[in-house]
Amino acid sequence: MKIDIDLVPKDQRKEKPTDVLEVPFGTVFSDHMFSMRHDGTSWKDARIHPYSPLSLEPAALCLHYGQGIFEGLKAYRRGEKVLLFRPEMNFQRLNASAERMVMPFIDVDFALHSLKELLKIDSDWVPEVLGSSLYIRPTMIATEPKLGVRPSSEYLYYVILSPVGPYFKEGFAPVKIYVSDKYVRAVKGGTGAAKAVGNYAASLLAGTDATKVGYSQVLWLDALERKWIEEVGTMNLFVRFDDEVVTPPLSGSILPGITRASVLTLVKDYGLTPKERMVSIDEVIEGISSGKVKEIFGCGTAAIIAPVGSLWYKGIPYEVSNGQTGELTQKLFDDLIGIQSGEREDPHGWVVPVE
Ligand SMILES: *Cc1c(COP(=O)(O)O)cnc(C)c1O
Repeated sequence: MKIDIDLVPKDQRKEKPTDVLEVPFGTVFSDHMFSMRHDGTSWKDARIHPYSPLSLEPAALCLHYGQGIFEGLKAYRRGEKVLLFRPEMNFQRLNASAERMVMPFIDVDFALHSLKELLKIDSDWVPEVLGSSLYIRPTMIATEPKLGVRPSSEYLYYVILSPVGPYFKEGFAPVKIYVSDKYVRAVKGGTGAAKAVGNYAASLLAGTDATKVGYSQVLWLDALERKWIEEVGTMNLFVRFDDEVVTPPLSGSILPGITRASVLTLVKDYGLTPKERMVSIDEVIEGISSGKVKEIFGCGTAAIIAPVGSLWYKGIPYEVSNGQTGELTQKLFDDLIGIQSGEREDPHGWVVPVE
């Protein structure tokens, strides 16, 4: 499919943030966006055009029943080059989410090609400083105006770009995590493994409980027994018990993170034993008390690696790694950001240049 291009005149382009590290995550957008629409038969009208408000019918299905999915990935600058990290996996996962939400598939090669074209046009929006990147948000929404509950016959797919610094305002400092035993995020058979918009709306109330006691993120337990740890807000979770590095298995209620998959590979490279197995919250709490839990960290595209400094469970705060960043956590952060930004060797061929 040919991509039509409509550029913002050079003298009307936006001013870029002077210090991207100070910009709150996801609040500034580049000059252009990509979009295409699906009419029930095929994708058409592929365009790169000025970033601008959408025109939607008030009856558009996504606004009423949440038929919407998204992705998140980043572009890094290495001198003149712009680099992506395992981007095909994002578009494959978008299709997996689409399947769950009865939405049309996109062609992975075309999605990557159109993203590269957009990035070439807005390449000067990819920031340079260490710890910054251009966050990419592919989105697909149901646009048919109809109040009946059924899959839409029309869709919009678009991609917007946002220059970002660290995800948490703490930067790479240990985050405090609140274990929710009152609300749940996902249940097997539900939509937890899809990056579906409704999952996040359902998570907000638990987040406000966490904020009340000074915690920033929620750790979800399984919905049935409220016993097994699942994942954190926008991150998968790892616990290091001595030399065993554990993350919960992808059992259908957990988002299959690309960072999670990369961490599993890196941990093996380090000669440690990564394990995907069920971990109960009691095992974590006991391990913190006995010293068996050496470190806990979250991982996801936005935060990359986030050390966990404390857990709040049933009204009691537990300090993890003395509130410091663990050794493995630090190494994974340095290696991942090094590979993503092209500063370190990329032994697994994860980095894709935009060219
Ligand atoms: C996106 C996301 C993750 C992390 O996935 P990455 O591919 O590593 O960015 C983890 N959990 C949830 C709920 C997410 O939405």
